[in-house]
Amino acid sequence: MATLRDDLKSLIGARSANPLAEKLGITTVGQLLRHYPRRYSDRGALTEIAGLEQGEHVTVMAQVVNANVRSMRNRRGSILEVTITDGSKQLRCAFFNRAKWHAERLRPGKTGLFAGKVSEYRRTLQLAHPEYELLDEMGASAVDEFVSEIIPVYPATEGMQSWVIARCVRQVLDLVEIEDDPMPPELLAAHGLASLDSALRMIHRPPDFDSLDVARRRLKWDEAMAIQLIFAERRKSAVSRPAPACPPVAGGLLDAFDARLPFTLTDGQREVGEDIAADIAQPHPMNRLLQGEVGSGKTVVALRAMLQVIDAGKQAAMLAPTEVLAAQHARSLRELLGDLGCAGELGAAEHATRVALLTGSMTAKQRKQALLDAASGAAGIIVGTHALIQDTVSFADLGLAVVDEQHRFGVEQRDALRSRGAEDTSPHVLVMTATPIPRTVAMTVYGDLEISALRELPAGRSPITTSVVPAAEKPAWLERAWQRIAEEVGKGHQAYVVCPRIGDEPPANNGEGRPAISVLDMAAELAHGPLSELRVGVLHGRLPADEKDALMRGFAAGKVDVLVATTVIEVGVNVPNATVMVIMDAERFGLSQLHQLRGRVGRGDVPGLCLLVTDALDGTVARERLAAVESTLDGFELSRKDLELRREGDILGAAQSGKRSGLKLLSLLRDEDMIADAREAALGIVADDPALGNHLGLAHLVTDLVDPDRAEFLEKS
Ligand code: ADP
Ligand code: MG
Repeated sequence: MATLRDDLKSLIGARSANPLAEKLGITTVGQLLRHYPRRYSDRGALTEIAGLEQGEHVTVMAQVVNANVRSMRNRRGSILEVTITDGSKQLRCAFFNRAKWHAERLRPGKTGLFAGKVSEYRRTLQLAHPEYELLDEMGASAVDEFVSEIIPVYPATEGMQSWVIARCVRQVLDLVEIEDDPMPPELLAAHGLASLDSALRMIHRPPDFDSLDVARRRLKWDEAMAIQLIFAERRKSAVSRPAPACPPVAGGLLDAFDARLPFTLTDGQREVGEDIAADIAQPHPMNRLLQGEVGSGKTVVALRAMLQVIDAGKQAAMLAPTEVLAAQHARSLRELLGDLGCAGELGAAEHATRVALLTGSMTAKQRKQALLDAASGAAGIIVGTHALIQDTVSFADLGLAVVDEQHRFGVEQRDALRSRGAEDTSPHVLVMTATPIPRTVAMTVYGDLEISALRELPAGRSPITTSVVPAAEKPAWLERAWQRIAEEVGKGHQAYVVCPRIGDEPPANNGEGRPAISVLDMAAELAHGPLSELRVGVLHGRLPADEKDALMRGFAAGKVDVLVATTVIEVGVNVPNATVMVIMDAERFGLSQLHQLRGRVGRGDVPGLCLLVTDALDGTVARERLAAVESTLDGFELSRKDLELRREGDILGAAQSGKRSGLKLLSLLRDEDMIADAREAALGIVADDPALGNHLGLAHLVTDLVDPDRAEFLEKS
């Protein structure tokens, strides 16, 4: 009896199997049977010649209307021109080789499948030397298939046509029966799922559209389970490690800090704070993701957790994605702590601790001191970029690692952090992000983390108004934007101008219109034009770290009026006096990124204004995306919208065309409930059988559908 892991060659012979391996990388029964049809057509609808687009690789079913051989004027030889129709529209096919031979076969009235790449010839679409298969030349079962209602159309490639794949699938389905269903029977029963054998039969040869739904539901479950099993395993292995228990200590630093906090915590900050406090009191590592809108006050939540850890005699590390942000964090933590953070200095409070900053580009002397403070335990808090988790940094006793703006950190870095605890312990990990993530994406991308969210902003926060500036249609509006900046600066405020690229790189000539507006060009243009009266600064990622830091400090101190920058300011930069942001070529940024960016203004008591400048025209998807940013300040709603407007494949990896992806059917938008169910099921299974030793089928499912590369890709996207 054949199984999914059997080699195709021994089953259907090398002649059929070799092309599948070469063209599609398919070598096993399972890989072929999980190469699902891309769509289905009933006979009449298969072709849709009317809907063809240039550049597509298509398979159409059509009838030959006429076929003419003529000799070519400027080349020797002859060409065969064939007109085919699907009843609605005609399409020209051209054959440059063996014209006479093809003409013999392609007689008017013949019906068949034609496949090839759609090109343009004299302003009409055509198929140049398509491959084809005529109905009356096909085998008996193939004709059956055609006479049946629903025809599977497979994702084909050059040299491997849909009908060839269909033939192989038919052959295999006739030969095998899949008896070992990887999914436990209880699960099939509980969720009313079809067996794998019947689901695979139905998806390739659906008797009707209802059974297609049944098949898809089961096969999606396989995909959802494969992903969630990986995360369940990661979670299980992460929490089963020992961690330093840090129960709260009465009368310690945290209490002293709370007593002098200049504001009351929001309900969200308090609730999340309690969850975290309970987690880090445990002798197993916390792995928690804290999502919270820009400005929702994540830093205080993190700091309070760090203080609880310091009270327990351990250290806390805070990782930021950029040096600018690390330096800013160190500054604001020191500010928040006041004399609680100046241990070793004159006037330090009792139990005071120290905040050390460690970045890649400090002077040797500064670096040495910071390393010493980390290793001796003199610093309770060590702030830095990912340089912190390099092996050269040793901690006296690391209890908690806070990772700010997680979307810049990969899973390896998280793992590296976990190995930095003392004596085989793993520190607790708190990951923070201001990029709101829809529930399914969170379950899929951060499936191994517990998730908390801060949904409200602290009271008294000023609203941000967002407007699209269609520069191509209304150039005067752009002039007005610069005036607005001048007015705000006149009132003593500051502004950001954000551009998609730096401008010192060689211009990318990718044939996609003009290159994006650059920071360097923009700054020069503004400084000599509309903003010539103002102090204009330039900030981007390729400046030396000390220069960046000096600039940010200068901007924070009000010594620069307008900061022209790349997205280095996207995360975490906090200058409450900045009230306007103009984003150039706004359509080139992601929705969540735009949301992040605008969160840099309106942080003080003056309302913020964000202007999205674009050349995109009304009615385009680009404008629709910008309109979405304009219409809502709710980051969660935006992230969902982003998911709708972006191809989901970008997240699930199907976009990596050419590389075989096991995740073909699952949709993060539509299958939210299923993913949640699969998550629960996976957690249950892994709790009893962590290595899946009693669920070999499921273990295979994981490796077959989500290879190790893939799992990592999911984490990073
Ligand atoms: P984010 O979540 O974007 O990292 P921050 O932690 O930087 O936000 O907080 C933004 C600002 O709000 C900071 O200046 C912080 O001191 C202030 N803040 C935080 N919590 C509160 C609160 N409960 N009430 C008033 N202001 C707060
Ligand atoms: Mg922050």
